[in-house]
Amino acid sequence: MNEFELIQTYFRRDPLDPSVILGNGDDAAVVAQGSGIQTVLSVDSVIAGRHVPEMCPPDGFAARLMGRGLSDLAAMGAEPKYVLLSLTLPTLQPGWVDHFASRFHQLCVRFGVDLIGGDTTKGPLSAHLTVIGHVPEGGALTRQGLKAGDDLWLFGPDLGGARAYLDVLDGHQDDQALWAERYWRPEPQLEAGQSLRGIAHTLIDISDGLCQDLTHLIEKASNPLTVKLRSKSLPLCNELNDRYGRDVALQYALTGGDDYCLLASIAKGVNVPAGGHRIGMVVDAMTDQILLDDEPLPASWTLGWDHSR
Ligand code: ADP
Ligand code: MG
Repeated sequence: MNEFELIQTYFRRDPLDPSVILGNGDDAAVVAQGSGIQTVLSVDSVIAGRHVPEMCPPDGFAARLMGRGLSDLAAMGAEPKYVLLSLTLPTLQPGWVDHFASRFHQLCVRFGVDLIGGDTTKGPLSAHLTVIGHVPEGGALTRQGLKAGDDLWLFGPDLGGARAYLDVLDGHQDDQALWAERYWRPEPQLEAGQSLRGIAHTLIDISDGLCQDLTHLIEKASNPLTVKLRSKSLPLCNELNDRYGRDVALQYALTGGDDYCLLASIAKGVNVPAGGHRIGMVVDAMTDQILLDDEPLPASWTLGWDHSR
């Protein structure tokens, strides 16, 4: 059983309260609160030894925690408002905590969120960030609604750098400043997400790998679809091609994960906010499929990150 089957089997239940507009299964949940605003909520974990190295710098720990969390709000088109921080620390190292906290608060100011609660415990280094945001009533963008005739658009800097940085951490590649930046300081695409309200049919953030996250959009569509991706249009992170060659560079960009770009489907011909890359199109088909330059994806690729592996 993989991560997604496990969640579907054990933790997906119909909501009891009619105020739940969207329960689990998307980037975040949406609940009604009256007054023309809906609340958007999500929680994400960062575990040392799993999502970050065991010996994790405080600055990077804070930035990855915040970036990953807020990216789920971006993927709903929401404006971030509040966060709750549950933090587990092995020992109280004042220097580490001091650096972590100052970076965390800096990011709160930068993204306009208030830290309104949390929990602090002792144990292996990990943190869970609950993020809470707002959208205008009915304005949340979800994973449901992919259609033939849509184009696929990517918002965010580029792909594959965070995956390549894992090779640096493993000692298999020389350091590359931009890969480190992509890994340690993911930029939640909040403005892009909000600018896509009323424009995108579907929206998701690329956390597990573009193709795997794209599969979530395809699975929620009402009929079978083929998505045609064009390799030439994919924004690859600097030096990926030079260091790895085209095939691995594309594999990292399409399956690596941790990119925190937004993937939107938008009807052809619609005015699209600036900054997007048009990376493919959606057509009707007999079976669900992703094609890259009209070919099936290489069979050797694992589509993306599965946390149960
Ligand atoms: P993301 O990558 O966008 O953070 P995930 O892949 O972690 O999303 O989760 C997929 C969906 O499953 C989300 O809607 C999340 O809220 C839900 N989910 C994950 N774990 C649980 C759980 N233990 N109980 C209830 N819902 C869960
Ligand atoms: Mg997400």
